[in-house]
Amino acid sequence: MSDNCVFCRIAAGELPTTLLHTSPNTVAFRDLNPQAPTHVLVIPKRHHTDVAALATADPALAGEVLATAATVAQAEGLGANGFRLIFNTGRYAGQEVFHVHAHVVGGAPLGPMLVR
Ligand code: AMP
Ligand code: ZN
Repeated sequence: MSDNCVFCRIAAGELPTTLLHTSPNTVAFRDLNPQAPTHVLVIPKRHHTDVAALATADPALAGEVLATAATVAQAEGLGANGFRLIFNTGRYAGQEVFHVHAHVVGGAPLGPMLVR
């Protein structure tokens, strides 16, 4: 737990959020500033900076984050038409919150993968 990490505080239940799903090691909640009709964030409860750090330190937990993302996508009705899973990692990707999170986005055609 990092005291000044907003997602650690959400995982600890210290900040209000739209909680969708919890498992023993993961939490899923709606993004405050949705970029698609469905935009959910999935995090491990334990703090890791980004997906690369998580995959190195705890590959099993990385798998749990993916499994929760798939569960949430199904529960949100994204199974039939598909969805995008995004892990912004570092400065060039525009990562803003340095507690690893998967963005699950869908609910409409998402357009090209990258805007240039
Ligand atoms: P990233 O640029 O990948 O680090 O994305 C961070 C995301 O976290 C953004 O989409 C924000 O809208 C979202 N966000 C930041 N604070 C909160 C919060 N308290 N609850 C829900 N989403 C948040
Ligand atoms: Zn954290």
